[in-house]
Amino acid sequence: MNQQPRIHFGVVKAKEMNTPMVLVHGGAWDIPFAETRMHEEGMKTALDRGRRLLLQNKKCTLVVREVITLLEQHPAFDAGIGAVLNRDGEVELDAGIMCGETAAYGAVAGVKTIQHPIQVAYRLMEERKGQNRFLIAEGAERFAAANGFHPVKPDYFHTEREQRRFEQLILNTNFHTSTAFSGNTMPRGTVGCVVRDTFGNLAAGTSTGGAPFTLAGRVGDSPIPGAGFFADELVACSATGWGEGILGVQLSSRVAFQVSTGLHPAEAAVQQLRHLFQKHQNGQNIEATAGIIMLDRYGNGAWAFSTPRMARGGWQEDGAIWTAI
Ligand code: ASP
Repeated sequence: MNQQPRIHFGVVKAKEMNTPMVLVHGGAWDIPFAETRMHEEGMKTALDRGRRLLLQNKKCTLVVREVITLLEQHPAFDAGIGAVLNRDGEVELDAGIMCGETAAYGAVAGVKTIQHPIQVAYRLMEERKGQNRFLIAEGAERFAAANGFHPVKPDYFHTEREQRRFEQLILNTNFHTSTAFSGNTMPRGTVGCVVRDTFGNLAAGTSTGGAPFTLAGRVGDSPIPGAGFFADELVACSATGWGEGILGVQLSSRVAFQVSTGLHPAEAAVQQLRHLFQKHQNGQNIEATAGIIMLDRYGNGAWAFSTPRMARGGWQEDGAIWTAI
């Protein structure tokens, strides 16, 4: 039986009823110290964009889209540029977004030529009749092209860092039993954002390149509503971590349900990170760890993680942008 990992958490609180707020994450894992500066820089740039939009009274869904667009653009994270490579040496991207007010969501998975998956997810969320909310692979790419999103070449997302990691993994013939990259040392730099706008509405989104060296076609929790993200009129959350584990417990909808029963977001997050770990103690040596950010309607926010570190940050009106790892 693995030992329950230490859970780190913190809270944020709105000053007033209508205080706009934004929280972001840039993945939860054993982020190397050499990479912390670029993570913080990427989050600060994205938060600054979120701050400006919220001060212009923009809607929460639009703010989530714009903040995540900048995180996808920054090479520090496993989303957009800098995404990890699968076993074929290719990037496959997933993203999802949800509006708490209307329960509309949009998502894409396994896309290779969409520059900003979160923007296409947003476009699907905005489809009036809501008949096609979640598209995968080539279908999603065709939808994007038909809606004016210019495709990029698949190598647009490639970085030297991920090429080197891929080469190391492919050389490691004993990959499955190796400890060179496992559990928390395996990069999990998914990005996410939760927003509460001036009208008190909530939205959440998540974007990722998935986990490194997975089989082509693998989809984790990140683009799945209720698993990698969720929003309703009471709470918005975005998760990151071991995708198969998060999916198995529907992490985001579980924390949201607990908040609806009266728990503070931080309490709900800590309880569910414990549950995630306990649930997966089935004899496999798997690190069932994750991180989560949350905001509720009343301006209570929280972050929590059971990994060694999590890139996180936020802003609220009358406060300064903060980041931490
Ligand atoms: N949850 C993501 C996945 O499994 C990975 C991550 O959060 O970094 O695809």
